[in-house]
Amino acid sequence: MADVPAECTIKVMCRFRPLNSSEVTRGDKYIPKFQGEDHVVVGSKPFQFDRVFQPSTTQEQVYNACAQKIVKDVLEGYNGTIFAYGQTSSGKTHTMEGNLHDTDGMGIIPRIVQDIFNYIYSMDENLEFHIKVSYFEIYLDKIRDLLDGMSQGCTERFVCSPEEVMDTIDEGKSNRHVAVTNMNEHSSRSHSIFQINVKQENTATEQKLSGKLYLVDLAGSEKVSKTGAEGAVLDEAKNINKSLSSLGNVISALAEGSGYIPYRDSKMTRILQDSLGGNCRTTIVICASPSAYNESETKSTLMFGQRWA
Ligand code: ADP
Ligand code: MG
Repeated sequence: MADVPAECTIKVMCRFRPLNSSEVTRGDKYIPKFQGEDHVVVGSKPFQFDRVFQPSTTQEQVYNACAQKIVKDVLEGYNGTIFAYGQTSSGKTHTMEGNLHDTDGMGIIPRIVQDIFNYIYSMDENLEFHIKVSYFEIYLDKIRDLLDGMSQGCTERFVCSPEEVMDTIDEGKSNRHVAVTNMNEHSSRSHSIFQINVKQENTATEQKLSGKLYLVDLAGSEKVSKTGAEGAVLDEAKNINKSLSSLGNVISALAEGSGYIPYRDSKMTRILQDSLGGNCRTTIVICASPSAYNESETKSTLMFGQRWA
């Protein structure tokens, strides 16, 4: 850990996706009114964030504003977490992963991987790097390793190039697909977490530095209608609700500088503990639909992030 006073930085960004084709076909009204770089009005209610991204914002612009600085900090020995929060279909996976194999379409994760390796390739020979990744999901408060279906804990995979990392992500995604019948439904009810761990050692001075980053594509934040939801669906909904609100409580406690941080309230906050408190960097990307059809969900989504913005 770098030798500076403990400080926790929390940034909250907000990204609106474009209207999708079914919303356009249905004739949905486009509701956000953007004002400057950090304000948006939804249904006459104003919201302010560290940054607000309009639908035309590119993946590269989102990366530069949301992740570039955190990557630099991780390479200097800090820990960090980036979350995507929002209802199903609001653009969380597009933001975190995007198209892994397309230069323009790449989301935050592949760009981070490229930046880390570019940094490594630019450093002198005295620096030795060890990069490890893990990929898992949390479903009903249980961890499932996406890199090894058999393992109890989480596989840590050493990687030597951006290509190897992309292959690892593809492998994890295909394991996730195999295990469930309806991938879209499943991904909206589980949190997926990609972890990158960077260790560096200066072989001349023996100085060591280690930082890690959690990249979290959260379960959909939509409220499940109380009528109709029962059994397994209701259990899932309650569980997601509980884990998202416990995440919110932990971030609020950190933002307030509270002495007690309720990490133990959910599996996810327990796992992320060493990357949320102390000297850590946290960025939340609030993802939202611009359609009037989703107005009430969009407002509660923006309210979630508004607490710390
Ligand atoms: P989520 O992960 O929140 O359920 P997705 O990221 O899968 O949502 O997005 C839903 C759909 O909308 C996908 O087809 C995705 O490609 C598209 N989409 C999301 N955000 C954008 C954006 N900013 N620009 C263009 N298409 C987007
Ligand atoms: Mg998704």
